[in-house]
Amino acid sequence: MQPKLLCQERLNCNGDYIIYSSSEGLNYYKCSSCGLIWRDPNAPFAVKEKSQTSFNGYKKRFFARLYKSRVQLDIIEANFKKGKMLEIGPRLGDFMIPAKGRGWITEGIGSDDYAVEQCKEKKLNVNKGSWEEIKNNGYDFIVMRHVLQYLSNPFDMIDKVHDSLKSKGGVFIVTRNGDYYKANWLRGKYHALNAKKGGRKNVVIFNYPSLRKVLENAGFNIVQENYPIFTKGSNNPVHTLERLIRKAEHCINLEKEILVLAQKKG
Ligand SMILES: [Zn+2]
Repeated sequence: MQPKLLCQERLNCNGDYIIYSSSEGLNYYKCSSCGLIWRDPNAPFAVKEKSQTSFNGYKKRFFARLYKSRVQLDIIEANFKKGKMLEIGPRLGDFMIPAKGRGWITEGIGSDDYAVEQCKEKKLNVNKGSWEEIKNNGYDFIVMRHVLQYLSNPFDMIDKVHDSLKSKGGVFIVTRNGDYYKANWLRGKYHALNAKKGGRKNVVIFNYPSLRKVLENAGFNIVQENYPIFTKGSNNPVHTLERLIRKAEHCINLEKEILVLAQKKG
């Protein structure tokens, strides 16, 4: 059956696509108009429930993640005033901990029992729930790191985020990069697209142009793509070095994830 990609309806794409990757009957299609890479909408999911042990690797790298979050917070704070921040999918709190420490009023919503409990133990204001249940619409800032690629309808979520933000509020997105050289080179053998690995759950893979198009279409202006070399306010030389490395990775397609900061139009 010819797939109908969601961007046809939501971005007025013309319906042309290429089969981007194929592994054990699971296809990903790349839209020729917007460049989004979609998991076959007719393919069944086989998502394994997350268990406590699935966070083991994450825990081992927790301090590295805290450090990366601080570098990312520098970029956010160079462009937005501190206020009420919501993180969707805060995992074990590696972003909320430094954000709270720097004076943001933080709140999180997550769907995984174990992660929510871990955040609560760390005295973080995190509630169990899905993004559809977000009730407040007065956030100054919303954070979504590695969330968007797993949603059956990322457009609906971005609309919800837009509605939940104050005028001129900001959104920070980190998601998998479809232009990463391994994705382009290995295709169905690349773990995120492989039927037995990440292909079980990755619905949509963005690159900078396609995420920009989706955000602009939803009423956002792009503030920052990728790591800037210079940021206002931060003069930590180790953070500057980190941003330089990330920027260099970006220039030669070694960047596994993309980073976008955007602002809701007034
Ligand atoms: Zn499209």
